[in-house]
Amino acid sequence: MSKTLFQKIIDREIPADIVYEDDDCLAFRDVAPQAPTHVLVIPKKPIASLDELADNDATLLGHLWLVIRNLANELQLADGYRVVVNCGSDGGQTVDHLHFHLLGGRVLSWPPG
Ligand code: 5GP
Repeated sequence: MSKTLFQKIIDREIPADIVYEDDDCLAFRDVAPQAPTHVLVIPKKPIASLDELADNDATLLGHLWLVIRNLANELQLADGYRVVVNCGSDGGQTVDHLHFHLLGGRVLSWPPG
């Protein structure tokens, strides 16, 4: 199977504006930001979508949420922010590697489109 775009970013085959990295995850700025701050947080493990999570990914998932919390703090989103996971075609997922959108820096409307 060919590498996803995000796997190529993990492997440094294509460039990205990386804001955080550890052994288990990577966070980088979205190339088409939908808010003043728009960061994608991804596991290094190649999980295709939220739907493909295994029961034993629970610790990894908890870690990703803590990374998101820390990034929101570091990126000074004190007024609030939104975390979005698009899953599947109806959910608007375009890259088949699990990713969390961290959006902030403006008032975000609800409901989403
Ligand atoms: P999805 O639509 O799958 O939830 O989110 C995929 C995101 O990846 C989109 O917000 C899109 O702008 C972003 N994206 C697509 N290609 C690139 C790229 O080459 N670099 C970065 N940093 N983000 C990308």
